[in-house]
Amino acid sequence: MPDNISEARECRSAVLHNSPVERPYAKTRPLSLDTLRLDPPGTDEVLVKIVAAGLCHSDLSVMNGDRPRPTPMALGHEAAGIVAECGPGVKNLAVGDHVIMVFMPSCGHCAPCAEGRAALCEPGAVSNNKGELLGGGVRMHIGDEAVFHHVGVSAFSEYAVVSARSVVKIDKDLPLDKAAVFGCAVLTGMGAVVNTAGVRPGQSVAIVGLGGVGLSGLLGALAAGAADVIAVDVDDSKLEFAKELGATATVNSRDEDAVDRIKAMTGGGVHSAVETAGVGPAFDFAYNITRRGGQTVTASLANPSVNLAIQQVRIVGEERTIRGSYLGGGVPSRDIPRYIALYKRGRLPVDRLITSSGPLDDINAAFDLLAEGKTIRHIIRMD
Ligand SMILES: [Zn+2]
Ligand SMILES: [Zn+2]
Repeated sequence: MPDNISEARECRSAVLHNSPVERPYAKTRPLSLDTLRLDPPGTDEVLVKIVAAGLCHSDLSVMNGDRPRPTPMALGHEAAGIVAECGPGVKNLAVGDHVIMVFMPSCGHCAPCAEGRAALCEPGAVSNNKGELLGGGVRMHIGDEAVFHHVGVSAFSEYAVVSARSVVKIDKDLPLDKAAVFGCAVLTGMGAVVNTAGVRPGQSVAIVGLGGVGLSGLLGALAAGAADVIAVDVDDSKLEFAKELGATATVNSRDEDAVDRIKAMTGGGVHSAVETAGVGPAFDFAYNITRRGGQTVTASLANPSVNLAIQQVRIVGEERTIRGSYLGGGVPSRDIPRYIALYKRGRLPVDRLITSSGPLDDINAAFDLLAEGKTIRHIIRMD
């Protein structure tokens, strides 16, 4: 809670002024810690005091140019905080509520929203692509210059004005540093497994790419009762970590016999392969270890220049399914409380994915750790 609201309207925030930027970020410092002026929350908007925010590869993708976005943009999309002020018309949220930020606002009224497909919300996609809030325009400024919002959230900031449609209220007994990872890593990874792949007890699942999203998917597959949960990556230290988390087998996809080994251990391939690495070869690998009749899910955001070469006749003759999964293919306000319930019962230990933390001032160096695979989830603590 802010001591006074006017203090909240001036806050420090990590702003990207240009992209792409080369590494090491500790030296090139793509994110500058600027003092922003925030507008008061508009209709159906809230001011949130950010308590903790996670570093995600989707932030890196904006910094390295894989996802071109307008600048200057305040980054950060995985976070949890406390409602500090409500704009006009806000229902079901009050000052003091604990919330998790969601990186795609869903209007609740468009055709995809009506079908329960929040990830495809049409006004949400338009505002996110423009770097604006769902209600249109921006609420952050440096002097007279507009600062764009990252997917309606901009969480590497002491405060953020967001649409009430960009948050999910949670119980206050979950520590907010742990809560943050539910907003992207858990929502995306767990959802790809249980919503998009629809994993059933006893099935075989492979997770290709072991970052925060992939490892959340791995924990999700275990929680969902998959018999075989095979972790795949090119980094042996991540494979080792996946084993500690409960993977039933680990495979380095660079090994020559990697595909054959997975086929041998699963009777011809996995029921579902979930790719979270964001590169073409990872998807190819996931496709090739999927059994006949199985499904290959991609939940990563590859560079737009990446195209896939897939034999059409195999899709038909082997009745294969390829599915994309965004926002975990579900409804955040329904799914996040379910995932938190599993966490509280010890069946989805996603706090183990938080491998480092630090203050906002160290954010550039922390992004080096993420880019180099030296941390799974790094949490920025705002106080
Ligand atoms: Zn993310
Ligand atoms: Zn909508």
